[in-house]
Amino acid sequence: MPPKFNKNTFQVPEYNPADFAPNKLKYLSNYSEQIKSQVQQMIDNKTLDKYLLNKYPTTHNVSNDKALRVYVMALKNQYLKKSDPISQIKYDDKIHIINNALGLHTYVSRVQGNKLKSKHELRIGSQFKKAPEDFLAMIVVHELAHLKEKEHNKAFYKLCQSMLPDYHQLELDLRIYLTQLELIGDIYP
Ligand SMILES: [Zn+2]
Repeated sequence: MPPKFNKNTFQVPEYNPADFAPNKLKYLSNYSEQIKSQVQQMIDNKTLDKYLLNKYPTTHNVSNDKALRVYVMALKNQYLKKSDPISQIKYDDKIHIINNALGLHTYVSRVQGNKLKSKHELRIGSQFKKAPEDFLAMIVVHELAHLKEKEHNKAFYKLCQSMLPDYHQLELDLRIYLTQLELIGDIYP
């Protein structure tokens, strides 16, 4: 039996502007080509802002370090009450410059008596002082999960999802939001 001709096999590759603009969708580099081309299409059609504003019409009120601490501790007490305490929680405007990170969890372990004690700090990129609450929640949940899981492994993402069932969709939408900010501009007053 001759091999079945499959038209996809011989399809001429379609022109994809993203292919000619390396790093243009840098926040989405770990996602599938399908997702990237959907986002590229919204950029080309100038509908990326509509997509975001439709799903995330408003921003949160967690606008300073004090409010951030209250916000983080409420989540921690709800889901990770028994984890180590966090000594410092704050917005940090240097985070994304250092390593393109959105948030940062740091810890120092030291021996105290015969116990190993960890000192944790949690920092959130200052660009999220003004952002939809869902995106702030996603980043906070990510950093809180690092109290228990240091690596980005299966257990880590399971923990994130236990705190925020929509975690993966929110991370994608957050990355679409960062793409909007960088390529097109702010969407919130
Ligand atoms: Zn992480």
